Amino acid sequence: MPSALLRRAVALCFSVVVAVAVLAPAGRADPPAGARLPDLDQELPSQLDVSVSGAGAHPSYRLGFGSGVRNVGTGPLIIDAHRASTSAPMVGDQLVETDGGEATVPGAGTMRYVRSPDHQHWHLLGFDRYELRRAGGSRALVRDRKTGFCLGDRYRVTTRSVPQTAPQATYTSRCGLTHPELLRVREGISVGYGDFYAAHIEYQDLPLTGLGDGRYVLVHRTNADRRLRESDYGNDAASILLDLRWHNGVPAMKVLANCPDSARCERPGLGLGAAPHASAARVPLARALTVAERSMLCRLSWRS
Ligand SMILES: [Zn+2]
Repeated sequence: MPSALLRRAVALCFSVVVAVAVLAPAGRADPPAGARLPDLDQELPSQLDVSVSGAGAHPSYRLGFGSGVRNVGTGPLIIDAHRASTSAPMVGDQLVETDGGEATVPGAGTMRYVRSPDHQHWHLLGFDRYELRRAGGSRALVRDRKTGFCLGDRYRVTTRSVPQTAPQATYTSRCGLTHPELLRVREGISVGYGDFYAAHIEYQDLPLTGLGDGRYVLVHRTNADRRLRESDYGNDAASILLDLRWHNGVPAMKVLANCPDSARCERPGLGLGAAPHASAARVPLARALTVAERSMLCRLSWRS
């Protein structure tokens, strides 16, 4: 074989080996000891209001809420999703920081290209879940139908100290906006930053129709299936204890207690920060959202 041809054959063979090494799944091994893991901390539901839609005899009411998840760990949350072709599913690995660089932990979830009225991009599915259940009950009466999340450094954590906070926001992309053909998408949350979604944006709400008078717990929970490796899973849920009363077909809600690190806000002694005046804790009844407001989608939630 002429030497030029041989060199080309060796080079080709080498590139195939490299490609196989990069694409081969690394197994579901734990991250290496000493890896700097993220710690996802679910923030309390915020921006609570009740919106009304529909007119006449059958208006429908929805409890809207903002949700935030911050990273208070020692390493960034990095989701590196990839696929071999545009017809294959986009599957995510989690990359964790180590002293030697980055380690790959497969099985971080699936990304889907979502087409909404005014934006299309790649969402990580199931990153944050919302539910309403009766106080004292275990079954969710209403669950979210959210299509997914475009993770990013949307705000800097200022309400507590995070020693390893990144010097600046890193994950500020729009998750492959208008690019369904991508073969690779990277999203994440840096240490000391959080990802936030505003009330009513892309299903940031739950329907109240059919729920009777009584006490309910609104639970927000990140990493519910524990696909993502973290240093602490004890702060993945936050909840609020609510009182719901209907008057002439119109709901009135009050916040009775806030529970930052628990999904069981009805437990005695758990609730923190119950409002001192009943009026201060009332969830406002908002006017109907316009179609334009509903279609603002992710843009409104991008604080930075
Ligand atoms: Zn989106």
